[in-house]
Amino acid sequence: MDKLALLYEYQQADMQLEAYERQLKNTPTRKQLIKLQNYLKKQQAVLREMENRTLVEQNALMEIDAQYDKMMELLNKNHKDISQYEEMSLDEMDYNVVKALVHEYETTYDNIIKQKKRAIAVQTKAEETAARLKTILTHVSQAQREFNELKKQHEEELRAGSEELDRLRKAAAAAAAKVDPALLARYNRIKQNRSMPVTLLKDGRCMGCNMELPSRDLAKLKKSDAIVECENCGRILYLK
Ligand SMILES: [Zn+2]
Repeated sequence: MDKLALLYEYQQADMQLEAYERQLKNTPTRKQLIKLQNYLKKQQAVLREMENRTLVEQNALMEIDAQYDKMMELLNKNHKDISQYEEMSLDEMDYNVVKALVHEYETTYDNIIKQKKRAIAVQTKAEETAARLKTILTHVSQAQREFNELKKQHEEELRAGSEELDRLRKAAAAAAAKVDPALLARYNRIKQNRSMPVTLLKDGRCMGCNMELPSRDLAKLKKSDAIVECENCGRILYLK
């Protein structure tokens, strides 16, 4: 067998191996696995974001609580101040002082109401966040279960295919061993950019790109065992 026939044979073994590897990598199970993996990755980011939000909301609630306590203290103090005046006789009372005290009391009371409303708003938001978080966690754990199940199935697929894969690998290696090493290196270089680096020549045309071969190249190919590459696509031309 000449050099090119051996290379052509190797290419067939190489393509069979690659096709089988592709087949193992493109099962519906594996596609679904990749989809789930991407989903889980995205959800991880969502969960992190929501955990941060929960922290911010908890801090806001704590701060509102602290302010609320201070205001209640102030309200009690206002109340006491006013009470003192209740025991006084009318003569002793200073109208303006009483008026200011009542005004302060009312202002504090209004602030407390406002603070209460804020607390309810933040609390509601925090509850919404918690509910969303719960929903997401349910979905995530379901996706994780599904992922583990599919992973097992895919491992089973790979195990089932391993024998055939091994056979194809050995066949490709055996075919490669017969090819001239320099030619094999050339093949691998072309393969980086082109599928099927060796292509048949039919009716003077490269079957890789359908370009007609110049007559001098055709003559060269017919006469000697020279390696001729297609001018257009760079594939090694093989005349059977
Ligand atoms: Zn070509």
